[in-house]
Amino acid sequence: MTTTETLIIGAGLTGLTIAYELHKAGKPFLLLEARDRTGGRILTSRTDDGAPVEIGATWLGKKHEDLIGLLSELGIGTFEQVTGGRAIYEASSLSPAQVVQLPHNDEPSYRIAGGSEMLIRELWSKVPSASVRLDEPVLALKGMTDYVEVTTSQGVYQAGKVVSTLPPYLFTSKVTVSPALPDQLLSTARQTHTWMGESIKVGLRYAKPFWREDGGPGGTIFSNVGPVSEMYDHTNIEENKYALKGFLNGMYHSVSREERRDMVLTQLRKYYGEVVDDYLAYEEGVWRQELYTFADYDGHVLPHQNNGHPVFREEYLDGRLLLAGAETAVLYPGYMDGAVRSARRVAGLVL
Ligand SMILES: Cc1cc2nc3c(=O)[nH]c(=O)nc-3n(C[C@H](O)[C@H](O)[C@H](O)COP(=O)(O)OP(=O)(O)OC[C@H]3O[C@@H](n4cnc5c(N)ncnc54)[C@H](O)[C@@H]3O)c2cc1C
Repeated sequence: MTTTETLIIGAGLTGLTIAYELHKAGKPFLLLEARDRTGGRILTSRTDDGAPVEIGATWLGKKHEDLIGLLSELGIGTFEQVTGGRAIYEASSLSPAQVVQLPHNDEPSYRIAGGSEMLIRELWSKVPSASVRLDEPVLALKGMTDYVEVTTSQGVYQAGKVVSTLPPYLFTSKVTVSPALPDQLLSTARQTHTWMGESIKVGLRYAKPFWREDGGPGGTIFSNVGPVSEMYDHTNIEENKYALKGFLNGMYHSVSREERRDMVLTQLRKYYGEVVDDYLAYEEGVWRQELYTFADYDGHVLPHQNNGHPVFREEYLDGRLLLAGAETAVLYPGYMDGAVRSARRVAGLVL
């Protein structure tokens, strides 16, 4: 049986930031990830000849100070989201779409240079590769007198401390813990929203940014008609690879990829004409179908419900189980900044 001082569950932004902090302090750890990739809800789709397309997290603001601090420590830049100062706005199906001027934005959004996944790549490259194991979902935790027994799809480990970075709902519905966790934690976690867990992201790469043409409508779309509710210019930082990227109404998770693509194209054709059919690639992320992000809720859970709840900052299994992850943070829970804050808090406790 493998023994480790600290076992971290999940190699998303939180898990990798904890690993990075522990490694900087010379502390050993083992990080187990269920998927065959790191990053969790951060996923950038890349091709050699096209713009990187964010399937998961994309934007940050100046208020996200912990995330900005980590990016600058890792030498990763940011750039402002292009809006072009105007947007296509579709108020209802009864009136045609119109181009409106956007008011000045005092709090612009920023994107991560090279794609959000740069953050994940950099963190991962800075920890010992043998300490991160992919394709190994954690199935059960058992609190013993001096350690926690961790059962995975591959075997059994003994850990002095375990840190879960899973969204609380996912953790309490998919990982069996004995002795049972307190009712207050379980009942709160079972009503805790996993930010963006139901969302569908869609992106289209193009050889030319037709939406940027002089007098054109721009790449920002807000539609109450849909099925795309929002869309934005997704050109890369170098401004030489082009894409549009947005959100599709989450109810379309059960139709086929081809049907979703056709719905997106039909909507875009209304605004830009047939040029939209000359796309290089269609990309999408249906997060509701992601076993290691989303699980069906028992009842109705509101966006951000119970995010940042104090029960997630208690210690469990006699201080041997700590909870981290974006949804556990006090500030900006659910967001990348919350993930970094939660990671730093828990790394501090472990150290
Ligand atoms: C479509 C979308 C858009 C978003 N947009 C933004 C945005 O613009 N700005 C922003 O700040 N945030 C955004 N977010 C939220 C952001 O992605 C998250 O806040 C952040 O990535 C959470 O990181 P995390 O490590 O806490 O959780 P996760 O990324 O969910 O990581 C948890 C990890 O645990 C793994 N795992 C799950 N179960 C197991 C198991 N049993 N055993 C082992 N490993 C397991 C998962 O595979 C995953 O790697 C968005 C999210 C999505 C999905």
